[in-house]
Amino acid sequence: MALRDALTGVRDDTAARERMLLTGWLAVLSRSVGEPTVSTAVIGATGGLDQVSSQVGDLTWADLAAALRRVPLDGRPHSAVDARGTLADDTADLVVRLGPGCAGLELAYDLEHVGHDAAQRVLGYLLHALRRLSETPDAAVDLGDMLSPEERRRQLVDLCGARVHNGPDGFVAAFQSRAAAVPDRPAVRHREGTLTYGELDRASRRLAHRLRGLGVRDGDTVAVVSDRHLDWVVAMLGVLRAGAVYLPVRPDFPPARVQGQLDRACCRLALVDEPGSILMSDVVGTDGWSGAVAPIADSGADPVPVDLPPPTGERPAYVYFTSGSTGQPKGAVCAHAGMINHLWAKVDDHDLGPDDVVTQTASQCFDISLWQVCAPLLVGGTCVVVDVDRQLDVAAFTALLLRHQVTTIQVVPSYLEVLLTHLETGTVRLPRLRSVSVTGEALRSDLVRRWFAVLPEVRLLNAYGATETSDDAMHEVLDGPGERDLPVVSVGRALRNMRVYVVDDRLRLMPEGARGEIVFAGVCVGHGYLNDPQRTAEVFTTDPYHPGERLYRSGDLGRWLPEGRLEFLGRRDHQVKIRGLRVEVEEVRAALAAVPGVLDAAVVAVGEGNRARLVGFHVATDEISSDDLDKQLATRLPDYMIPAHHVRLDALPLNDNGKVDLARLRRQAREATAGTAVAEPPHTAVERRLALEWSEVLGLPVERVGRDDDFFESGGTSLAAIHLLTRLGHRLSLSDMLAGPTLREIALRLEDTDVSG
Ligand code: ADP
Repeated sequence: MALRDALTGVRDDTAARERMLLTGWLAVLSRSVGEPTVSTAVIGATGGLDQVSSQVGDLTWADLAAALRRVPLDGRPHSAVDARGTLADDTADLVVRLGPGCAGLELAYDLEHVGHDAAQRVLGYLLHALRRLSETPDAAVDLGDMLSPEERRRQLVDLCGARVHNGPDGFVAAFQSRAAAVPDRPAVRHREGTLTYGELDRASRRLAHRLRGLGVRDGDTVAVVSDRHLDWVVAMLGVLRAGAVYLPVRPDFPPARVQGQLDRACCRLALVDEPGSILMSDVVGTDGWSGAVAPIADSGADPVPVDLPPPTGERPAYVYFTSGSTGQPKGAVCAHAGMINHLWAKVDDHDLGPDDVVTQTASQCFDISLWQVCAPLLVGGTCVVVDVDRQLDVAAFTALLLRHQVTTIQVVPSYLEVLLTHLETGTVRLPRLRSVSVTGEALRSDLVRRWFAVLPEVRLLNAYGATETSDDAMHEVLDGPGERDLPVVSVGRALRNMRVYVVDDRLRLMPEGARGEIVFAGVCVGHGYLNDPQRTAEVFTTDPYHPGERLYRSGDLGRWLPEGRLEFLGRRDHQVKIRGLRVEVEEVRAALAAVPGVLDAAVVAVGEGNRARLVGFHVATDEISSDDLDKQLATRLPDYMIPAHHVRLDALPLNDNGKVDLARLRRQAREATAGTAVAEPPHTAVERRLALEWSEVLGLPVERVGRDDDFFESGGTSLAAIHLLTRLGHRLSLSDMLAGPTLREIALRLEDTDVSG
């Protein structure tokens, strides 16, 4: 067999052949785990298991084999190399050895852990390595593309999204036809107001013409500086219908940040509502931004003009700014083709139709707000814009879901938990709810199990992707808790017309099951970062498997599960999620370092999900109060990016390589967020019970919770507060907690409700 060919020329020496096998095996391991140095276990000269480590990268085959000469091997004719090693979890228990008389390779594996297919694949890689080793011993150890043609086909074809023809219409044309078909149906609701399809169509068409009249041309960026309400939806559609690029801005963002974004986007026009016009009066100034500001609302009296030619295909549709690791936010631009592809995928997987009602809950600066508005508008459904205070009060939120007969919602996992805890009390039923999308962070399996225990009929859709890829590129559609016992559920399969690969640094496919970087290709991959060629080139490149098409490197790690679904395994950099929002820790560090008086700074994130928070470390000669630091940071960063705790240090700790010792800072941050010694422990039974719930919600040891601790200063976010309120059976409101946030005060109010209840 092939092994015989591979070993031809090696003298009939069992130990030498064992060494060849070990050389090949280490090369396979190195390629499979994407590390230059790897280790494996071998049967040593004494017959016991020995650990062998070797640097593989940069060596030639001959050098690697020579480096392994020192390894004392068994050398007996029958057993030889027992090359145990971790390829991927499902092949960890694989043993390779030379067969009797070195006539072949034997693979031994525990079927409970290793499938026949996986074992076959590994054998193929090993033969490939042995062939290279014997044919080109003086070449660098490089397995090139070691995957078999079948495995390549599986990854490049079978695991890709279905090829579906979306037709020529982008969102604008599709909306226009729908509006013509169902003009009297409700399109968008907010509070007591409603816009029918006909009204939304007319208002956004009029605005599109007004924008063209103001000089807006195809591809110009138009900012919409507005809260979320009916006019905001008109503005979003109006900008798209004018053929311009939609750039949302929140009126509560710091003016300096907004100015930076408008400049970066070369934006000359901002549409504003009232709060937006207040913000823009700070942005427009002598040395500020010099574009024009126009109100979204018009008199509504002009005759409604005809439709403009609807934009489609690769024309840019919108730009969302996300946190950037160089200290500056970056504007991810996506095209109409990707936008409509994602919208149709949402329609399919949520099974949306004319009777569906979808909530719009996301911030307007977060790209998920776009599908929450636009997907129902493709099918004659209704979008309900939900104010933040409604979302923060989970009882009010469920009441709204009931009142509007909502069928489809989207939340981040931490809010899903809040909602679920509320629904588990059994006081509310949501008979119309059919489908819930969870996104932004890993979805824990225990949450999914709890969900289906309470709402077995309501689909969960784990939506995964990035702003750079027109929002989600993958969906996991869950109609039950599933069989697999992983801590987090998979992120599923690629959406239609999307390709997802797991690759190494050189974009080579990783073996199935091995961990690598998740990259996206296909129609949804955006155009890159606006007017930012350098940062675009860092993560956008061409798809080596489909030359000429764009590919986006997500920086996420993952691996393919045997059933062809993707498991998300975290980040390879310092990007984190705080309250479901994407934050580059480096951007926060840069802002902290720029505060007057700060000489050096570092920022780390601790905790997960609900409990994730940032801790800032600064070096300063004079003391700067946390309040002052927060105020300074608020001029540059949105509130969710401001560290929950500040720690002053004499100097930043360095590790052996002379870099800032982040591991040490993380340990220190955990201690800082856990609070110091408790001044006064809880007294009453109610206080003690409350301290227990509080510690669980904030992830603190209970003995660290003191009577006079302030929930919010102890790291509690508003989402964490709702969580606590839910655990307390909603006997208090969020405003009660804001009015009296210490343990003692909350306990007193609880006692009051006990008395009055
Ligand atoms: P989106 O465009 O989906 O709103 P962002 O651009 O804000 O998302 O953030 C993208 C990053 O968020 C991903 O690269 C990944 O790290 C994380 N992420 C998004 N969805 C999920 C998910 N379902 N599971 C795990 N991580 C996720």
